[in-house]
Amino acid sequence: MGDTARRSDGGAVTPAEGPGRETGLACDILVIGAGAAGLFAATWAGRAAAGRPCSIMVVDGARTLGAKILVAGGGRCNVTHVAVSEADFAGSSPAAIRKVLGRFPIADTIAFFAAAGVELKREETGKLFPVTDSARTVLDALLREARAAGARIMHPARVTALARDDAGFTATTAIGPIRARRAILCTGGKSLPKSGSDGGGYALAEALGHSITQPLLPALVPLVLPAEHWIRSLAGLTLPTRLSLRAGARRLHATRGSTLCTHVGLSGPAVLDMSRHWLMALHHDPAARLEIAWLPDTSVEDVDRLLVSAQGRGAVSSLREHLPERLVRTLCEVAGAPPAGDLPRDARRRLAALVAATPLPVVGDRGFTVAEATAGGVPLAEVRLDAMESRVCPGLHLAGEVLDVDGRIGGFNFQWAWASGFVAGRAAAGQFVAETDGNQAAPADARPASAVAPPAG
Ligand SMILES: Cc1cc2nc3c(=O)[nH]c(=O)nc-3n(C[C@H](O)[C@H](O)[C@H](O)COP(=O)(O)OP(=O)(O)OC[C@H]3O[C@@H](n4cnc5c(N)ncnc54)[C@H](O)[C@@H]3O)c2cc1C
Repeated sequence: MGDTARRSDGGAVTPAEGPGRETGLACDILVIGAGAAGLFAATWAGRAAAGRPCSIMVVDGARTLGAKILVAGGGRCNVTHVAVSEADFAGSSPAAIRKVLGRFPIADTIAFFAAAGVELKREETGKLFPVTDSARTVLDALLREARAAGARIMHPARVTALARDDAGFTATTAIGPIRARRAILCTGGKSLPKSGSDGGGYALAEALGHSITQPLLPALVPLVLPAEHWIRSLAGLTLPTRLSLRAGARRLHATRGSTLCTHVGLSGPAVLDMSRHWLMALHHDPAARLEIAWLPDTSVEDVDRLLVSAQGRGAVSSLREHLPERLVRTLCEVAGAPPAGDLPRDARRRLAALVAATPLPVVGDRGFTVAEATAGGVPLAEVRLDAMESRVCPGLHLAGEVLDVDGRIGGFNFQWAWASGFVAGRAAAGQFVAETDGNQAAPADARPASAVAPPAG
């Protein structure tokens, strides 16, 4: 990383045209991370402070801004979902998640993007995408709105340390120290680290007194089966399924939806949605087990009845009306059931059990480099939800995936970023304005950072 930072429009910010390493930088509100949550927080901070002297700076360590937004939804960016509730998320308490989501409903997301020139369309699944089918339009709109609200975006400028003192915060960055009265931490999680979200933000939060839930696990991640497992031989097959996670006699979680058999195991929405629950359950109980129902709405008794009623037709010809023949033939082989002709009772029962609940001896996951989200983070219990402000470090606000909240596939993670970014940005600006109004006669070191001589770099 060089001494030269890039503005979001690609122009280099050198010491000659803007403050750099030599002079130090200062602002009133420093947003760390220019992802979905950070750009939203900066926009709403700027809007909330409109007409008031409040400088907002956004810094990001990445050379390319918004990499995660650009790859989201297969490059189309699934901006949100038509119906979002706390039940679509895991991590912190549902009541806390509901409270934050309630501050920025879906209608507000749709209205925000419409006003920013991005019309959203609804797909059959309830997912909302830009009508352009291009994530670029979403990123461009976010950058435009943040700048229009007065935010200055600097990158690459990774924050390596964040310290609090009586007058505010000092961020240590590659372009020198930055002083700020308030800070909004929007550094994301650990998923897709090459995008810039490599978990470094957790250390910043910890240094300021926060805890990070343990373990931090990949979420929305494909699962790996043993090298010799027969499901791997079905790579490319996609079908509707139901996955169940059990511990002893208890069913801990279930997901349903499309599953994709891959050359290393399983992927697709039902599997991705299950992954964080499976990994978390396994961490706490090594006896936790996962199984897949190849006919999602059918019990073992139903499958057995189906096979009995089709006696004489043979297993393959009766099951291929409901399942891909390739899968049926493999299931027969694994169950030791003849694919054609009479089906002995024991073989029939083994086959029915396999169709209704194939055990999945998962040996791993594809990791953070492939995961779409992170399970774990700063617990919402450590945050005042009306302002997304830290309870342990006043003046620090947090938003997005750095928090212990992860959603299922469908636009839910972005909706969390929008809602928490909105609350954090508005509150940071509102409190900054209130403080400056109330501190007209305050001592010099309590004045906003923009009015304080920046520290020597
Ligand atoms: C492949 C993929 C596809 C996805 N598709 C969707 C989808 O279609 N719909 C959906 O809802 N969700 C999707 N997600 C999830 C969604 O992208 C994230 O939940 C969301 O981007 C989180 O927003 P954020 O702003 O909290 O974090 P991020 O978007 O991760 O942004 C964090 C930013 O902080 C910067 N940063 C990190 N540390 C520092 C530091 N120390 N100093 C300075 N800057 C730093 C990073 O460079 C990054 O730009 C997808 C994720 C992936 C990986």
